[in-house]
Amino acid sequence: MDLGESLHHESDENQDLPQMQCDACESALQSPERHSLSFLLLDQLTAPLIGCDDHRQQFASICGYTTEASAELLDHRPAGGVSCPSCGLAAHTPQQPLVPVEGGAVAILACPEHQSEVISRFHTGLDTQYQLTAELDAAGPRDVL
Ligand SMILES: [Zn+2]
Ligand SMILES: [Zn+2]
Repeated sequence: MDLGESLHHESDENQDLPQMQCDACESALQSPERHSLSFLLLDQLTAPLIGCDDHRQQFASICGYTTEASAELLDHRPAGGVSCPSCGLAAHTPQQPLVPVEGGAVAILACPEHQSEVISRFHTGLDTQYQLTAELDAAGPRDVL
């Protein structure tokens, strides 16, 4: 297993795609289509995500560590739509920061406020996941943070 790749937190370097081994994410991000878009429901947040199925799922399940309810992933626009008007506009903004998810990356099509909220939930979830993993697998340092 190659887990040596660190998950960088800085998202303001060039908007080039980060190094990723996941071709499916890469093609989803380069030419987003309907099937590569899901809606992440996390508490009151609704954020459209672009990436491959696997990495969207992974992103959602990591975010799920930060909520007592579960993080849900819908493959269609939720009934109420996206409640934040700025988030609605963000869906039409072509350049969105990418969030690396092990081996791939997803883009969050939300306004800056909600985007940073989702990203911080994701990082909190990563920490939680890391602690859980570290308990199960005490071997070897992992360069996560
Ligand atoms: Zn992927
Ligand atoms: Zn918003």
